Amino acid sequence: MKFETKVIHAGIEPDPTTGAIMTPIFQTSTYVQSAPGVHQGYEYARTQNPTRTALEKNLAALENGTDGICFASGLAAMDATLKLLEPGDEVISTNDLYGGSYRLMTKVFAKYGIVFHFCDMANPDNVSAFLNNKTKMLWIETPTNPMLNVVDIAAICALVKDKGILTVVDNTFASPYLQTPLDLGADIVLHSATKYLGGHSDVIHGALIVKSTELSQKLHFLQNAVGAVPGPQDCFLILRGIKTLHLRVQRSCENAATIATFLQNHPAVSKVYYPGLPEHPGHEIAAKQMKMFGGMVSFDLKDNSIENAHRVLSSTHLFSLAESLGGVESLIGHPASMTHASIPRADRIKVGLTDSLIRLSVGIESVEDLMEDLAHALQ
Ligand SMILES: *Cc1c(COP(=O)(O)O)cnc(C)c1O
Repeated sequence: MKFETKVIHAGIEPDPTTGAIMTPIFQTSTYVQSAPGVHQGYEYARTQNPTRTALEKNLAALENGTDGICFASGLAAMDATLKLLEPGDEVISTNDLYGGSYRLMTKVFAKYGIVFHFCDMANPDNVSAFLNNKTKMLWIETPTNPMLNVVDIAAICALVKDKGILTVVDNTFASPYLQTPLDLGADIVLHSATKYLGGHSDVIHGALIVKSTELSQKLHFLQNAVGAVPGPQDCFLILRGIKTLHLRVQRSCENAATIATFLQNHPAVSKVYYPGLPEHPGHEIAAKQMKMFGGMVSFDLKDNSIENAHRVLSSTHLFSLAESLGGVESLIGHPASMTHASIPRADRIKVGLTDSLIRLSVGIESVEDLMEDLAHALQ
């Protein structure tokens, strides 16, 4: 089945009792058993819920995996993934990853004896430098947030093939429409479904997708044991959002490409970060592993004071000043004071995340209107 068909049909069956074409929201905490231990596969809703099951099957199909495991948020999905580790284990991660992921690693899991190394994964040699017999997981994010660096997923996964090291890809920025990391050698794909999968900025949700039964069992165990499960209504909203994923992401990418070129030619802009630009250092790898170049664009200002950045950020009308991304509406954000405020300034600046860096999540509005809005704000 092609992707455009899978988003609508994979894992979805009409409701057998009524024929409802849309997966019902099974708002129940428990299920009646006909005799002790005799049930229809559902016992208690932390463990299983049919709305969640439909979504998990759908996500598994979209990422070309065997199983999906859904969580109350992207970070809850990440929490479960890191709980596969033991004290003393080491993780190597991208250095400009999502701020909340960095916080969960360094402020929560580091306390339990897990050791994290951060490096620029755009160069696989940097990963090799940290590899040792305690390394148990590689944490990849690509394109990275907010610098939009591109990591060669196949090359990084190949480094640790058959070494018993799990490779995890946070695929939130690309979405499965653009990139399917399991096909490139990764073991686990993570989504903040809050973003492109949901796509309408109305729900917080997370998911993992795997291609091994053993990993699926371990993660389902953690999902049930820890309990950070999503409610059925949230699963329904993600299922509904996914039905238009391909159309939304396609339009976002087209709009983002046009806006990246527009910003490049704007006199107030010093630098544009967009993997679709031929001069972007990760352009060729992005072209190889992604279908299009994504809906996220970051740029820096010639006048690089924080005051100037704040002026631009407060002057757009269509681009709403807000955290998050991947919705139908365009958002503008200031990583230094918003999504990445938890990263120390010196560490931020080292990777190019300056005080004047601005990040756009380009939505699916008219690109002419979006450019006019930016032109006005930059003026
Ligand atoms: C938002 C986000 C997360 C966290 O997801 P939540 O749903 O907010 O918990 C993780 N990774 C990336 C890349 C994100 O953008």
